[in-house]
Amino acid sequence: MGKSVARLYTQFQPESYDVTFDIDETAMRFAGSVTIKGKKVGRPSQRITFHQHDLNVMSAKVTKHDKKGDQAISISRINNQDTLQEVRLHAGEMLYPGNYTIVLDFEAKITDGMTGIYPCYFKDGESEKKLFMTQFESHYAREGFPCIDEPEAKAVFNLMLETRTGVTALANTPIASQSEKAGRLVTTFEPTPKMSSYLLAFVTGDMISKETKTKQGTDVRVFATVAQPANSLNFALDVSKRSIEFFEDYFGVPYPLPKVDHVACPDFSAGAMENWGLITYRERVLLAYPGETAQSIFEQIALVIAHETSHQWFGNLVTMKWWDDLWLNESFANMMEYQAVDALFPEWHVWNTFIAAEGLSAFRRDAVAGVQAVKTEVTHPDEISSIFDPSIVYAKGGRLLYMLKNYIGEDAFRKGLKAYFEKHQYGNTSGADLWAAWSDASGRDIGAFMNPWLTRSGFPMVTIDQNAKKISLIQQHFQDDPSKADPKRHWPIPLFTDTPNMPDSFDSEKLELDGTYPPTLINLGAKGHYAVRYTTDEQKKHVMDLVSKQELPEPDRLMLLNGGSMLARAGYESYGNILTMLGAYANESSESVWEIMALIVGESRRFIDQDEKLEPRIKQFVGKLAEKQVKRLGWVAPKDESAADTKLRASVLGLSAYSEVPETVANAKELFKTYIQDSSKVSAELRSLAFVVPVKEGDQEAFDFLVKLHDTTNNSDLKGDTADSLTATRDPKKAEFLLARLKDAKLVKPQDVDRWLVYLLRNRFTRSVAWDWMVTNWKWLEDTFKNDKSYDYLPRYAASCVNTREYEKKFRDLFESKQDQVLLKRNIQLGFEEISTRLAWLERDLASVQKFFKAQQ
Ligand SMILES: [Zn+2]
Repeated sequence: MGKSVARLYTQFQPESYDVTFDIDETAMRFAGSVTIKGKKVGRPSQRITFHQHDLNVMSAKVTKHDKKGDQAISISRINNQDTLQEVRLHAGEMLYPGNYTIVLDFEAKITDGMTGIYPCYFKDGESEKKLFMTQFESHYAREGFPCIDEPEAKAVFNLMLETRTGVTALANTPIASQSEKAGRLVTTFEPTPKMSSYLLAFVTGDMISKETKTKQGTDVRVFATVAQPANSLNFALDVSKRSIEFFEDYFGVPYPLPKVDHVACPDFSAGAMENWGLITYRERVLLAYPGETAQSIFEQIALVIAHETSHQWFGNLVTMKWWDDLWLNESFANMMEYQAVDALFPEWHVWNTFIAAEGLSAFRRDAVAGVQAVKTEVTHPDEISSIFDPSIVYAKGGRLLYMLKNYIGEDAFRKGLKAYFEKHQYGNTSGADLWAAWSDASGRDIGAFMNPWLTRSGFPMVTIDQNAKKISLIQQHFQDDPSKADPKRHWPIPLFTDTPNMPDSFDSEKLELDGTYPPTLINLGAKGHYAVRYTTDEQKKHVMDLVSKQELPEPDRLMLLNGGSMLARAGYESYGNILTMLGAYANESSESVWEIMALIVGESRRFIDQDEKLEPRIKQFVGKLAEKQVKRLGWVAPKDESAADTKLRASVLGLSAYSEVPETVANAKELFKTYIQDSSKVSAELRSLAFVVPVKEGDQEAFDFLVKLHDTTNNSDLKGDTADSLTATRDPKKAEFLLARLKDAKLVKPQDVDRWLVYLLRNRFTRSVAWDWMVTNWKWLEDTFKNDKSYDYLPRYAASCVNTREYEKKFRDLFESKQDQVLLKRNIQLGFEEISTRLAWLERDLASVQKFFKAQQ
């Protein structure tokens, strides 16, 4: 790893695979055979090499096809090279370029790691059942069958599955034929379109489903295990049908397959996977339980479905040549999910969520010195998961495309996309191909605009200084630790201003304009990926007046607050000033703005680890801040309430409960009693509040009830709420009890372990036991998760809860020696950076924060 790997596509180019899997559930093994047709290319050699990992390739037959007809090639040796993830077929003669057919027989164990072919466990009543499914992205097709496992090696796949009888068998394409032979079910699927190996998929097991058709006649189906209620599929079915219709219209290119299936899988490492025609999900992001699912979860489900659906074009129909352009897939899908959901559910105003949630995640991460650029070299696919930083590859990349779309306008944006799909369908591309399409459509040089943003890490801060005679703009590389900023790093910055007679962008260090301008705001609508710093008292007053009169739209109100807190953490402002600014938002009634407000509240709570006496003061301040909205919204939602208010109620009541406002605490406890008697009487929004309050107060019966609820429910959303509330305990003994359960996959699914752990780490009452548990059980964490995305998140999560020198040392003790692991190295180094900058900030601003809260008394 680290060093580059040979691309096997340079010696063999597959055209088709006929692949058969025989799944033995009892022995937990599979046997397979594959017939690969394709071209040997490049220099003549005595071997052909395919990818394989943990497969035992037992036999190989090679046939050469040329003018002389078919000739059998004798294979002298099959060399399974497991460390290289290859199988090498050594021939007794020289093999020249040309057409070959290779037939390989192989077998392997089925293991619990959630890659390759793996089992999903679930309980149907009292009986334990399994689904068998695949996860082949990024480079795990080679765990299923020998192949050229590189995105550029597109081919047609003809899949056949042998399973036990009575199961549902799904793959990318519809079933061509199905029959029973010797007590086994044999299912053959129609050929796939030409596509990359990482998109091949199947799922088999006992499932329920619902189906519909799009306007154009595409079959849309949603599947879940038989343990799920049928009505949990309804919402996903509606969203997936309408998402396909939306993208067909938006892209102007028809959906390329006759069907699309969406499957909720009980064990799943990522959130979802866009396999062509067979999209797989965690249950939590596909299933909605009428009456039991919160608004925020409905939104999340819709966004994830739209994200994966957009990949059916962007990613599947047109695919990156190599993994270094993976950002292109993910950044694009990250933005398009909002585009689609905004069209499907305009009343949700999800663009505000995009700006609040994705924007914030991108800015915070991108301000840490040493973070990667969106576009990064990938030499070995094993590096992908460590480079796959969601705040950068998804969130920042998505924001950059959003900036571009606003810069060139939606018409040019769509026109360029259509041309791109039409030109490159069933092929592979790099970023330059997309820039070319958008340059043609917009008449601007899009490569020149985008490349600096994509290849440079970080983002600019634009300082704007204005007086009666002139206005000047200066751009600087923004870093949480300004001493690490690169003074030479500049970007082409679109101004997004409504002040007349200003240029639409500038790319030099400084822009000076003589003349008298009205008070100027830039980055309106938070469309650009940069921070704005207003310097003069007049400018600041002007901005704050607009905020308190609510004359600025939501994206601007929230980005001002976010920008302010970023400037404070980097030392350009004092945090006391930011808290003063937060106080000016007391009249705020927008949910997306409150998301940032709640985040700043959370951030200020870090100071409690420096000075415990701050806690009651912070609570009092927060209680007051939330008071107005708590009063406005009350505890019961009126019938025609907006989605934003429904979400806001949960959030402000949560803040009020944190502040221990007596009335809120009493109501929450009452609500918990109601839940025990009749859960349908408690709204999904307020459920977790009702759970958290008694747990925090140490109510043993409530704790036991929630543990039992967690262990028995099949509703993943409810399971999540019980986890969130149980981890709010203040009792280290209870935390130890919860931690001990993490190693039992029957109690806590491996996919959920990181959630439990990180919540216990963030809780300052349980941090110490959770940390000790993490140290003691590191070997187990490594063994269980080393192939999983959540493994490299561990140092990131651990760093996120360090607020004192004591924990800085603990972080060092645990992770310093682990930097030789390629998977962890990046997040450990960023962790060190993040912690040292944060501690410098907390120590620098403690006095101003203490002063602020003293003045509140
Ligand atoms: Zn994606």
